[in-house]
Order: sequence, then structure tokens, then C-alpha cells
Amino acid sequence: MKILVINAGSSSLKYQLYDMSDESVLASGRVERIGMDSSIVTHEPVGALEVRDVSEILDHVSAVKRVIDLLTHKEYGVVTSMSEIEAVGHRIVHGGEVFKNSALVTMEVKKEIKRLFDLAPLHNPAHLMGITAVENVLPGVPQAVVFDTAFHQTMPDTSYLYPIPTVLYRRHGVRRYGFHGTSHAYVSDKAARVLNKPLESLKMITCHIGNGASCTAIKDGKSIDTSMGMTPLEGLMMGTRSGDIDPAIVPFVMNKEELTLNEASSMLNKHSGMLAISGLSSDMREVTDAMNEGDKNAKLAFDMYVYRVKKYIGAYAAAMNGLDVLVFTAGVGENSVVLRKAVMEGLTFLGLELDEKRNAARSKEARQISTDRSKVKALVVPTNEELLIARDTYALVNEAQ
Ligand code: ADP
Repeated sequence: MKILVINAGSSSLKYQLYDMSDESVLASGRVERIGMDSSIVTHEPVGALEVRDVSEILDHVSAVKRVIDLLTHKEYGVVTSMSEIEAVGHRIVHGGEVFKNSALVTMEVKKEIKRLFDLAPLHNPAHLMGITAVENVLPGVPQAVVFDTAFHQTMPDTSYLYPIPTVLYRRHGVRRYGFHGTSHAYVSDKAARVLNKPLESLKMITCHIGNGASCTAIKDGKSIDTSMGMTPLEGLMMGTRSGDIDPAIVPFVMNKEELTLNEASSMLNKHSGMLAISGLSSDMREVTDAMNEGDKNAKLAFDMYVYRVKKYIGAYAAAMNGLDVLVFTAGVGENSVVLRKAVMEGLTFLGLELDEKRNAARSKEARQISTDRSKVKALVVPTNEELLIARDTYALVNEAQ
């Protein structure tokens, strides 16, 4: 079965086509600047040259049509006809409390995604446009939705409630939902396989550290706490996001600087984190390069970033009363040798011992970076959210047949 995985944003649409007989990727690509007269389409058939063009793509229906044209194209295509695409899986940011698992798209599911617009105003409307566009272009093809929040629905109320008036939870759904769930689920499963131990027997902390970053405490295979909250702003310090701060800072600064709600939100989401402290960049490579050249602010940004990752690992080890496995993933977690070293060197008391050679080795495979005698195992596991979306879609479509 061939499955198309789609991540639809408001002005972009990323895709991957999987052949589920061996879980291989046949092609991937993206449409950017949807809605403008100069949309950019990049199509990468595996094993062939990348195709790139600029054309007018005014809406998501045209974007999906363009993707299907490319996938079935005589020269650049990877399938002979669109009927070979038997199912489509979508990444959906917010599943609220309704979606504890992935689901097949029905009228009711679409209504629920719409009800959740309030909680993910930038993402869920775009995802729904993606679903509707596929209905238009590939009528009758089953679609599934896989939520970033679903994996964290196992959190107990002690983790997901905030100590504020509970009426806000009942009226507006103010609670911790957590994000990056598809990634945390994928890498925790993969780490257990690499260690050849049942996931259900392990206390694990997964650190998804990219532009956005979150840590998750996973006990017996279930998320019991995660650092992102009602929105992806809480928790770790990130590229441009503040992560945890004293909430009283917000009204204080709004008052002093005469900021509007939008300005305050933009300050915390787009102008904070590593970018604010380094005064240079939100990109970990640029910050570490500057640090190595002696830039003091870059060093401060790096040190604060590492310190906050360590604090969360310590907190989650306490929450689980122990730790067996620590996993690093995403852009920074998979690639930054110095970040992993700095984090792990401060956690020897937990029973973590870094193998410097393993840590420095370059590989795209999941691997251990702790020493053989380290009590707690540390791993780098490249994440693959698209594969998990394809797998869930495959399972749901097969179940329904
Ligand atoms: P997103 O959250 O947007 O998916 P990614 O997971 O791709 O982001 O992570 C992007 C981050 O990964 C950037 O800060 C980038 O600097 C960092 N990164 C990528 N490659 C490296 C590398 N070789 N060394 C250090 N950091 C890296």
C-alpha cells in the first residue's frame, strides 16, 4: 500500500509518499508560499534529481493537485497513476482531550478538529484545509489524522492541571496538552527496540530538541509528564521561545512597555530564547560557533539552554522515582555533540556516564552514547514523525477494511 503523508500549514504543505511494503520513502517535497503568485514547489523523488519550480498556487486544493501531478509525472513521478495512492495521513497539531489516538477522518472528526481551532489557531485551520483539499483531489481515498497531543493524553491530572481556578479548565480547556507527541512516541519505541527491552518496563526521558524543544517523562511506555503546556511556549528555553518564566513578568512588562496582547505574545514566542540571550541567532550551530570564537553572550545562551535541559531531566527522574534511559532527538539533539556532552556531564549523579567517542561519532542511525557500564543508558535516536503517521494510517485503514 502507498500512503501519502501531509503536513499542511497555512501557507505551506509538506509531503512524503511511503511504500508500506518496506516502509521506504518514494518521494518527498514541499509547496511554499501558497496563496501567492510565486509559490515554490520542491519535489524530491528518491534516487533522482530534485525538481523545483515557481508558479501560482492560490489555495490548498491547487497545492494538493500539484503534488499529485508531480507524484504521477512521466519524468519525475514515482507512481504511474493516482489510484496507487491508497490512503493519506495528516499531521494535526492539536487533538485536545478528544483524540487520545490517531483516527480515520469522518464528518465528526472534522467537526472536532474545527472545535479545537481556539486552542491551535495557527495550525488546526490549515490542517483542515489540507484534509478538505485531499477530499477534492482524491475523492474516496481514506484519510487518517495523527495528533501531536495524543501521546500525552495518558498524563495524570497531577501533571496536566495548572494550579489556577479550575473553572478555566472546565470553560476553556486551560490545561497542559503537550506537543511533539508523535516524535516522543516514535523515539521511545525505537530506543526500547535498540536496547532490546520492553518499553513497558522502562523509565525514560525523551528530549526532542530542535527549534522548538520539549522533554517527556515516559513510564511503562506512557507519557506521564511533558514540558510543553497548553501551548508550545512552556518548558525548555528554545530558539526564539522563552520557555518557563515567572508568569507575573507578562503583566509587569505589558504595563511598563505598554505592550498589546499580540506584542507580548510575539515577544515571548519570537524574540526570546537563545535569540534574545545571544543577541545573535536562534540557530544552535551559529550560537555554538560564536561561543567557540569567544562570544560571551553566545556562551551565556548555550549555558542557560543546557542548564534548563538538565533541570527538566532532574525533575522527571524525580517524577518517575528513577531513570533507565535518556534519549536525544531532533535537529539539536541528533546533531549537537557539545550540547549532549554538556547536558550529560552534569548528570553523573543519576548514573549517566557519557562515552565521548560514541557521542562524537557521526551517524544517522539510532545508537547508544553512554558507556557500557553506565547505569542509565543514553541514546541518540533520529526522529521520524512522518513514518509514524504513515504507520498509524496504514493500521487504521487495514483495520477498517
Ligand atoms: P524544527 O523544530 O523546526 O523541526 P529541527 O528539529 O530541524 O527544527 O532543529 C533545528 C535546530 O537544529 C537548529 O537550531 C539547528 O541549529 C540545529 N542543528 C541542526 N544541525 C545541527 C548541527 N550539526 N549541530 C548543532 N545544531 C544543529
